[in-house]
Amino acid sequence: MFYLFKTFTQMKILLNRTSLTKSLAPFNDIGFVPTMGAIHKGHLSLINRSNQVCMKTVVSIFVNPKQFNNKKDFKTYPKNIKKDLRLLNKTKQVDFIYIPKFRDIFINNKKPKVKIKKKDKILCAKFRKDHFEGVLDVMDSLTNIVKPNKIFMGEKDFQQLFLVKKFLKNKYNTEVIGCKTIREKNKVALSSRNYLLSEENLALASVIIRKLINLKKIIKFKKNKNRYLKTVRSDLEKKFNINIEYLELRNIYNLKLSSVMNKSRLFVAYYLNGVRLIDNL
Ligand code: AMP
Repeated sequence: MFYLFKTFTQMKILLNRTSLTKSLAPFNDIGFVPTMGAIHKGHLSLINRSNQVCMKTVVSIFVNPKQFNNKKDFKTYPKNIKKDLRLLNKTKQVDFIYIPKFRDIFINNKKPKVKIKKKDKILCAKFRKDHFEGVLDVMDSLTNIVKPNKIFMGEKDFQQLFLVKKFLKNKYNTEVIGCKTIREKNKVALSSRNYLLSEENLALASVIIRKLINLKKIIKFKKNKNRYLKTVRSDLEKKFNINIEYLELRNIYNLKLSSVMNKSRLFVAYYLNGVRLIDNL
């Protein structure tokens, strides 16, 4: 590992909070991009944005076990640190990479657990028990350690962005900036989980997302949009042999179910060959 680190002149790699704090001390305009690795163009777009508006960009790579409600999902989550470092180095836009161990992030694991309000237990929060509690917990620690001026997160994980923004607003002087979803040419949103899909599955994911893009145009003309989506949902499940957890139109500012297209997005989560994919349009 150390021999690998030496080949990167541009980026400084930090393995614990003490060295990170020391390295970041001279700077006061820090952009932060938290990731779980398996770096792709979606992550790179956040880094690019940070690089445009901040003096220094910090990227973290930490697969947070607390946010996995399923052990198998955690075990099979794609990991390739060497490839990640090479990709990040190539951008020439990353100044620091923080690759902590669990105990570095959760030094005081006894602090009271973050709780999600009952009204927020919708979409992914309804299906992934304790997932967002784990996300908010890690974002709390990371923000406290990195002390960034700005955090860049993807709209691809819209509910995560929504909850993190709300949570950090009251606690830190940090701005959370949402960045648009980067897609493949075939319209599939870039995701680390795509690495777990076969070519065939990816082709099917492309057919499904195109259907949903079209569906968004169709529901404009439907009176009861969410009722119509329920019917479409079961048709899609049968047609593509997939399990859809939700297919809902929601308001982007409060995530309440919406009956109008204005300020609303179509949210979807589904399993394709055992891999859980989410998107919003
Ligand atoms: P992850 O490594 O999956 O936890 O993602 C780290 C960050 O990258 C999160 O803020 C995600 O929302 C963002 N992200 C993931 N996929 C995309 C994408 N296709 N386009 C833009 N941002 C993304």
